[in-house]
Amino acid sequence: MPGSPDDRPAAIDPQDAFQLFSHELRLEILFALWEAPDYALAFAEIQDAVGERDSGKFTYHLDKLTGQFVTEVDGRYVLEYAGHRVIDAIQTGVFHTSPTVAPVEAPGSCVYCDGTPTFAYADHLATVACPDCETKLVEYPFDPGGFQDRSLREAIDAFDRRTRFKWRLASDGVCFVCAGRVSVAYTDAAVELDYHDRYAEFFAADHPALFHLGCQNCSFYSYVPVGVRLLDEPTVVGQLSARGVDLTAQPLWELPFVVDAECVTVCGRDPWRVRVDAPTPGGTVGVTLDADGRVDSVTLRP
Ligand SMILES: [Zn+2]
Ligand SMILES: [Zn+2]
Repeated sequence: MPGSPDDRPAAIDPQDAFQLFSHELRLEILFALWEAPDYALAFAEIQDAVGERDSGKFTYHLDKLTGQFVTEVDGRYVLEYAGHRVIDAIQTGVFHTSPTVAPVEAPGSCVYCDGTPTFAYADHLATVACPDCETKLVEYPFDPGGFQDRSLREAIDAFDRRTRFKWRLASDGVCFVCAGRVSVAYTDAAVELDYHDRYAEFFAADHPALFHLGCQNCSFYSYVPVGVRLLDEPTVVGQLSARGVDLTAQPLWELPFVVDAECVTVCGRDPWRVRVDAPTPGGTVGVTLDADGRVDSVTLRP
């Protein structure tokens, strides 16, 4: 098909790919290459690094990785993109660690009461909440890797920027996990979340409309506030900036049009039309989103 990638027969059956790493020596080989200069080592260097004296056994396992995860170039074995991704999946920390962070002060202020929010982390879920008015402002998964080599304050900042990026990308139809197509649809209730106890108090449960995002290729799905679309529209960003709202300086949880249900009005359901009002020191920027969740019009009110 024109414009489609050349779809060679799969090098490995998808489920066999995971099976491949059931032998720890294979992961050790990938990690040895990751730690090597230029991600490349000669045969004997890898064998040395993983400490496998049995050459037959070592060759057997290296062969299993060669092609998809590792390639041989001029007598050296090089870590391929797929090999990097295996390491990355492990380094996110989600498979083997589950750190917790007791509530600590977070930057910004509560959109409802101006109180100081707190950040907490448990079960791979980061929560920013206001203890003063007992409101959950934003909650989203965050990988344990986010706490590596960072102070807690830096990790909170990374959570803000990463969540913002993920919501923007996915609500624009691109999966940040697998690059697949994400369907974007309005919904008035985060139904799938009802099955998960930990989402019992979904932070945006009171919003009259949410986006249901679902990847057509991988298992990613999410419910996010519709206000996130405002972050991606240059006209809106410009209008907000001209009225004193610097989106880069304020964390996600300090943006009323993302957090506060009062900023969201459903104008129609067939087809869907939703208005998001962004309050600013210089008046309200009203943004209407069309049935596809795209910005349709922007109006300014004093
Ligand atoms: Zn508050
Ligand atoms: Zn995906």
